[in-house]
Amino acid sequence: MSKTDCKLGTKTVWAGEDRLFEGNATQTPVVHSVSFGYDDMEQWMDVALGKQAGHIYSRNTNPTVSVFEEKLRQLEGGEAATSASTGMAIISNTLFSLLAPGDRVVSVKDTYGGTNRLFTEFLPRQNVNVTLCETEDFDAIEAEVAKGCKILYLETPTNPTIKILDLERLAKAGKAAGAIVIVDNTFATPINQNPLKLGADLVLHSATKYLSGHADALGGIITGSKELISKIYAYREIVGGTMHPMAAYLMIRGMKTLKLRVEKQNENAMEIAKFLENHPGVERVFYPGLENHPGHDVAVKQMSGFGGMLSFMVKGNTYEDACRCLTRLKIVRRAANLGSVETIAGPPATTSHVECTAEERAAMGIPESLIRYSVGIEDVEDLKADLDQALS
Ligand SMILES: *Cc1c(COP(=O)(O)O)cnc(C)c1O
Repeated sequence: MSKTDCKLGTKTVWAGEDRLFEGNATQTPVVHSVSFGYDDMEQWMDVALGKQAGHIYSRNTNPTVSVFEEKLRQLEGGEAATSASTGMAIISNTLFSLLAPGDRVVSVKDTYGGTNRLFTEFLPRQNVNVTLCETEDFDAIEAEVAKGCKILYLETPTNPTIKILDLERLAKAGKAAGAIVIVDNTFATPINQNPLKLGADLVLHSATKYLSGHADALGGIITGSKELISKIYAYREIVGGTMHPMAAYLMIRGMKTLKLRVEKQNENAMEIAKFLENHPGVERVFYPGLENHPGHDVAVKQMSGFGGMLSFMVKGNTYEDACRCLTRLKIVRRAANLGSVETIAGPPATTSHVECTAEERAAMGIPESLIRYSVGIEDVEDLKADLDQALS
């Protein structure tokens, strides 16, 4: 059995690295070289034309970056993958490479803040028509998709109230309308959810979050069919938002422990969600693993773990109540990031929805007393004790 036929945990370690490297190195080298030299002119031409495997110039492709792309490709089960300097770079390059003036996009209101800005500001400026549906109203999404669209863009679980979209159902609607179905799988990771198996055409990640896992590198990646990925690659190569080889190395290193980290975070988050649900200082908990969560049944169907992201409303229901709890927490980074080994928390007002006014957040159904809590791999007893003292 080849290591690439193995289960996810084996793939996280071996995929893309099932060979020796330069000088028999067992680990992927960080190739900082900008260009790759050829003494044989014919070979140079063949590589340049893509007739033979190899690298020409690191804005296009690079050996370290290619290993990262191959690892994620195998974890999600795509035909091909391409990457970019950040999550937003891969999202914007994908949308701008596949859309033309006059095209229509259907998506939901609860996408990542930067993605929402593309939908509300930058795509309309290019004469692309964007319809954003209520996130949990699957009938409305299906009805909009049936009117015709070039792209159906989905994200699940969402930020910051952790809503769940039914990927199988919506991908089917997208396919029936001839749309390209794209899923941002950042929150779930390939360990908990595989959108390509549920019918999506493309799955993308802000690799900055769980894939890296250590909050020390930025990156974005997308995988799907060779045909679609080659279009996105051709655009990204020219626009130039390439992933740095050092970032790719950190991603590769981080991804070797992806399954261990995510399984621990799933466990910790479930226990913390149950703990918070019964805490007198908490008004409401948003976590798809809880049976009273509106997306619980769909999450059970499409996810193999509920993830490490949760949010909760502090009793009192004001921004000041959230701040009081946040500043009292001891085992936490108060920062605008998520998916790392350490627990990270913040209010939507300074993290996911920093661009919005309080009124806009209210209109989007984001409570002012909400705390987004990205559960780390710490001992869960310590995290619970910390939350308990901060909420009391
Ligand atoms: C952070 C994030 C992004 C953007 O990624 P960057 O690497 O910060 O550009 C996109 N989608 C989701 C769900 C995210 O959490």
